[in-house]
Amino acid sequence: MKSNLANIKKAKNLLNIGECIAIPTETVYGLAGNAYSKSACRKIFKLKKRPKNNPLIVHYFNKKDLMKDCKFNKSFLKLYKKFCPGPITFILDLKKSSNICDVVTNKKKTLAVRFPKHPITRNLLKNLNFPLAAPSANLSSKVSAVCSAHVKEDFGKKIKFVLDGGKSKIGLESTIIDIRKKPKILRLGGLNISIIQKVLSKKIIIDNKPSKISSPGQFKLHYSPGIPLRRNAKIAKDNEAFILIKKKKITKSNYYFLSKKGNLQEAAKNLYNILRIIKKNKYKSIAVCRIPNKGLGKTINDRLIRASKF
Ligand code: AMP
Ligand code: MG
Repeated sequence: MKSNLANIKKAKNLLNIGECIAIPTETVYGLAGNAYSKSACRKIFKLKKRPKNNPLIVHYFNKKDLMKDCKFNKSFLKLYKKFCPGPITFILDLKKSSNICDVVTNKKKTLAVRFPKHPITRNLLKNLNFPLAAPSANLSSKVSAVCSAHVKEDFGKKIKFVLDGGKSKIGLESTIIDIRKKPKILRLGGLNISIIQKVLSKKIIIDNKPSKISSPGQFKLHYSPGIPLRRNAKIAKDNEAFILIKKKKITKSNYYFLSKKGNLQEAAKNLYNILRIIKKNKYKSIAVCRIPNKGLGKTINDRLIRASKF
């Protein structure tokens, strides 16, 4: 097994020659390529089978690197200081002088940017001369990958390298906020909205309904396990996998527990792995118990609602 440093060097060399690789982040794994290279970014879309109109999030080491490509305001600075690196993505205006290729943005004048927290990926970003465009490292519309094995499951030998960083700590995608004017949440995610609201001391609009799609993370069918899923179930039918929020004394082979005691952070971390295991175990459908609609529970419910539009 190579050391982390040797692996980071390998990742750097591949990215420098325009290849795509998978990288670990605290939210989910990313499928990364040079955000300044058209051909690298085209590869990302092709590998994921991602529609061209679904722009990519670009990952930076810090604000200094971001300044080359984007304009920002006071609200951004407040949130950056408090939460970055961390699970929050900002929609910002691109500078005219930016080198971000238009494949990334689908020719939009705005860019989604993030500062991932995983130490291995931070080390990699620090050593590159370009930011990384990186959507989640899964096939488009399917469940995200929260460990290197999931990435290999989805892409096999099609991707050159997976930079292994263990299990993603949060296990759900980042919270996306359009910060250019009135703060607007475009996707619920790993960072609690009430905490963001406190820091901004401004009202935040939540606009993650699939009707008006400015951020395709809002697409109705997304995060799909590939089999029917129903929510707020009290009991499971025969041959149905049953996902419960906390461990029960009496268990059955079709029971899957998101956490030991109903902890929402732990549940978030385990959700995608459990959905993948259930699919592998050849169940035909999934029942999920009621998940409390508070804190990260709101994000879990958002993903389950989309996953249920099978
Ligand atoms: P993922 O594939 O999970 O990394 O999702 C990235 C999300 O960021 C998608 O929902 C995109 O639609 C969203 N996104 C990226 N760029 C923009 C942008 N300029 N404006 C709005 N949403 C964006
Ligand atoms: Mg995704």
